[in-house]
Order: sequence, then C-alpha cells, then structure tokens
Amino acid sequence: MSTKVMAMSAASVGAKLEATLIERREPRAHDIVIDIAFAGICHSDIHQVREEWGPAIFPMVPGHEIAGTVSAVGAGVSRFGTGDRVGVGCFVDSCRECASCRAGEEQYCLKTPVWTYNARDYDGDETYGGYSTQIVVDENYAVRIPDNMGLDVAAPLLCAGITLYSPLVHWGAGPGRRVAILGMGGLGHMGVKIASALGAEVSVLSHTLSKREDGLRFGASHYYATSDPATFSDLAGSFDLIVNTLSVNIDVDAYLDLLALDGAMVVVGLPPDPYGLKVDALASMRRSLAGSSIGGIRETQEMLDFCAERAIAPEIEMISVANIGSAYDRVVRSDVRYRFVIDTATLAETRL
Ligand SMILES: [Zn+2]
Ligand SMILES: [Zn+2]
Repeated sequence: MSTKVMAMSAASVGAKLEATLIERREPRAHDIVIDIAFAGICHSDIHQVREEWGPAIFPMVPGHEIAGTVSAVGAGVSRFGTGDRVGVGCFVDSCRECASCRAGEEQYCLKTPVWTYNARDYDGDETYGGYSTQIVVDENYAVRIPDNMGLDVAAPLLCAGITLYSPLVHWGAGPGRRVAILGMGGLGHMGVKIASALGAEVSVLSHTLSKREDGLRFGASHYYATSDPATFSDLAGSFDLIVNTLSVNIDVDAYLDLLALDGAMVVVGLPPDPYGLKVDALASMRRSLAGSSIGGIRETQEMLDFCAERAIAPEIEMISVANIGSAYDRVVRSDVRYRFVIDTATLAETRL
C-alpha cells in the first residue's frame, strides 16, 4: 500500500522539474506523515539533478530542507503528534548500530545514511525529497520546529543552518575567538549570523565587497575582499577558525596562512578538484585543515532551538514551483540573497 502525492520531479539528467505524482509509503509503526509547507533550494539539489556529483537515480525529487506539519502518525510513534511542526534535513535513516550512529552523529554513519533523495532506503526503494506535498519519515529522523520560528525560515536551517552550526560549535567559536567565514552565500550568511550569536569576532572573506552591508548587518565586525591581494598580507596569522563554504577551487595555502597558531580551516563546501597544499603552511603554525558535514539529529534540534532563542533566521526569497528552474539558474550565478524557499502550496494547486 502506498499513497500518491504531488512532487516536482526530474525524469532524467538535467531534465526540467515537472509536477507529477509519486508514491509515499503507508506509515509504519514509527513513521510520521508530514504535510510539507516549505522546501529550501540547496545548491546540492542542482548538482544532483544535473548529475555533477556522479551517477544519480532518476526520476529525482530533490529537496532536503523540509518544514511542515504532522498530519498522521504510526501506532508506535511517541515523539510527535498530529499538528506538530517538524523538519527533515539531509537524511531520513541510518544504520542505528555503528559507532557514529550510537554517538548521535548519524550523518557520519559508517554504512552511509539514507539520504533524503537520490538514494535508496534499506528496502531498496528510492527516496524522494521535499519538493513535494507530503513525506513519510521515521520519527527518529525528524526534528521539532520551535513555536516561535516560522516554517518558511526553518526550512533552510535544516541543511544550510546545521552545516555551519556544527563546525562552529565543534571548533569552539565563541567569545575571544576570531572566526572568518569564507564565502557569503546561502551557507556563509548563516555562518555569519550563528558565529556572531555564539559570541565570536566574525570576519567575512568574500570575493568582493558587494555584500558588505549585509555582512555587517548579520553580525560581522569586519569584511574583506579576497580579490584584493592586500587582504592576504594584512591578515596573515589573524584567525583561530576559518569556515570555508565555497564549492570552488581555492589557493589553500594562501588561506591557511591567515590562521593563527593552532588555527583550523574547516571545509564545508565541496570543490570539484582535490586540494593541493604544501604541508609547510600547516606545520609552521601547528594548523589544521579539516572537513565537516551537516549534523546529527540531536545537534540539528539544538541548532533550531538556539536559532529560535536568538531570533536567528536565514534571509529567504519565496518562490512558487513554477519558478524553480529560474531559481536554479540564479543560484548558479550566485544571484540570490540568500536562500530560495519553495512554497509547496503552489504545488498542491498545480494541475497535472
Ligand atoms: Zn543542502
Ligand atoms: Zn550507522
């Protein structure tokens, strides 16, 4: 048994997303059914629909920034009830047995988490993401959206928000720490807001100064252009932590030289090519180069609660399903301030 629901689906590599019907499973004992209100557009949706990250599964329904309301629950569900406001991020299951899962770091599941879309669940069924009117998820892989947080702004927190929150907390961003956010896009602008709320002294390293006003308004104390060579000479040895949100190739050594003694650069964007670096830049100041990927369920809940308490929200531009294609083009051109969110009510109204 399954239920047919509306979704925006790409039939093949690079195909236009079209409204169609997909099947969602009947809720099992621990499943909740979520009526999706909003779905954020993440750059990785575009990479996967265009098969830029290796072989993908089609038809594909992207979307891993999902916010909505519980409309039904399985018989064994204890964490949620009908009407609860909930979110789903980048994964919908994991093995629950490995060291990472037992530590609550399900995103690092040694058997690979079941990604929210472009993946197969443990029964071999394809997973479909949030560009849809409904999703069925195990209650252990959903988070509660605080009452004072809009569902529209909650959606992007479930990937962009946690992707920055997790490394900032893990690497100790806080009072007395000098944190640089490299890149001022969907990820970077959340990094600025969260790092400054954590009490760190925040700098933005962006290609140009075009978003400087925004950066300062979001809580940065300093804003530097990486297109200006003086930035690299003036700021040598300046930061305790650099979070690199760029998914393009960079001169890694030049950025490592901006780190102070014991500083770390943490990479959260995935560049197309391997990094080439000289170990000198690390060894000369006991620096680290590290990576980080989203966050576990417990930490995602902690991030939502933190953002609700501090009134931190992403800057969003709401679109209808009819405008997903043009939104994709604008994301690729970095022409969005700072995250597109799809109003899925416009999908429910679409005629097939
Ligand atoms: Zn994402
Ligand atoms: Zn696991």
